[in-house]
Amino acid sequence: MNEVCVWCEQETARKIEASVYWELPDGTKAIEITDVPSYYCDNCQATYQTDERVREIENQLFIINTKNIESVLSFEELMNKPRLLKRNYFDFDY
Ligand SMILES: [Zn+2]
Repeated sequence: MNEVCVWCEQETARKIEASVYWELPDGTKAIEITDVPSYYCDNCQATYQTDERVREIENQLFIINTKNIESVLSFEELMNKPRLLKRNYFDFDY
């Protein structure tokens, strides 16, 4: 089932899993996250993640220890990493 593309607003976006490059919150390096639930638009060829997904990844990177993080890991591996804090104190929207 297709969904409305956030870029061209046509109903041509479908769910895929994509690799994304992500800069760590402290800016020390960029990692590759594979198999990230994403959308691909057949009309404008855009690959993107929803805002909620981007936020989920950013929050996770804030609350895990990224010092020894792999330079390539899957979305699932990232989300399963132990959290240092009970909640994300850096997310001021709470
Ligand atoms: Zn599109």
